[in-house]
Amino acid sequence: MQHELSFRDPETEVICNEALARHTTWKIGGPADYLLIPKTKAGLIEAIQTLTSQHVPWLILGKGSNLLVTDKGFRGAVIKLNRALDFIRIEGNMAHVGAAYSLIKLAALTSKHGLSGFEFAGGIPGTVGGAVYMNAGANGADISQIFQSAEVILESGEVGRMYADELQFAYRHSALQKKRAIVTEASFQLAYQDSDSIKKRFNQNKETRMRTQPLPLDCAGSVFRNPPNAYAAKLIEEAGLKGVRYGDAEVSSKHANFIMNMGHARAADVLNLIQHIQEKVHAQYQVQLVPEIIVVGEK
Ligand code: FAD
Repeated sequence: MQHELSFRDPETEVICNEALARHTTWKIGGPADYLLIPKTKAGLIEAIQTLTSQHVPWLILGKGSNLLVTDKGFRGAVIKLNRALDFIRIEGNMAHVGAAYSLIKLAALTSKHGLSGFEFAGGIPGTVGGAVYMNAGANGADISQIFQSAEVILESGEVGRMYADELQFAYRHSALQKKRAIVTEASFQLAYQDSDSIKKRFNQNKETRMRTQPLPLDCAGSVFRNPPNAYAAKLIEEAGLKGVRYGDAEVSSKHANFIMNMGHARAADVLNLIQHIQEKVHAQYQVQLVPEIIVVGEK
């Protein structure tokens, strides 16, 4: 650990050497030098300004449901937002939601209010901030279709607002993936609809997910992006890779694009398995599978 971090805001909790396996849905990942948990937005701004001025690398952590943290962990500070930004305000057909709010809770609540737009998100276990960053989606819908704007904090600590066109949403992509900015709140424009038909679509999506995905085991959802005009899961399955295992990391036999932690998988096991899948699928179909999950940490 090279930096001594201290904050004026006593509300920011600082935990040293925190195992990130405790904060990812894969339950994999070595320690972060620091885990910072600001309890207020002012605390978050101060934390970012301190880290930037001291040149400490930082990473925002949502639910850790799309992250593979390496076994050596993260050198620098990982910032977890949940206490500061876990809120929702519904005003008419607009939902203004804190970045740490659960996407699953958001989908359930808006469908209860007769507001359509989040039915696709009923089983995506991330936060609103992670969903905007990833342009999360399912069943032909995604965040970009309902997103209006987001409040962001820049590296300087300056607070700004980004609108849909600036975020350049595409398949599992947003401009945030190239910009150092933290989403603190996002606003979504939903449509009033008959509550029963919203609930029906919401429940159908949930049911499909339960039927086709190996839940509730430890995983990070789809490991690879779907290539143009193809499904990664189908290519992996047809290459005969279901059930293939490195250490405790295994290709799910229920959904071939999921890699499960069957007990004590290490990031190295998952990375070896990813490489193996890429090589086999390329050899058979000349398709290069590109990971959807984000790998962070010291190599
Ligand atoms: P994290 O994994 O914590 O972080 C992901 C990235 O977002 C990181 O780079 C992080 O720095 C950044 N980030 C997080 N919060 C912020 C913020 N506030 N500001 C700026 N950057 C931020 N995804 C889908 O799209 N569709 C699915 O159907 C789907 N199904 C899944 C099923 C399962 C069982 C699991 C485990 C995952 C699934 N996922 C799916 C993947 C994952 O849930 C989504 O990508 C989700 O949006 C990630 O949110 P998170 O809060 O967990 O982000």
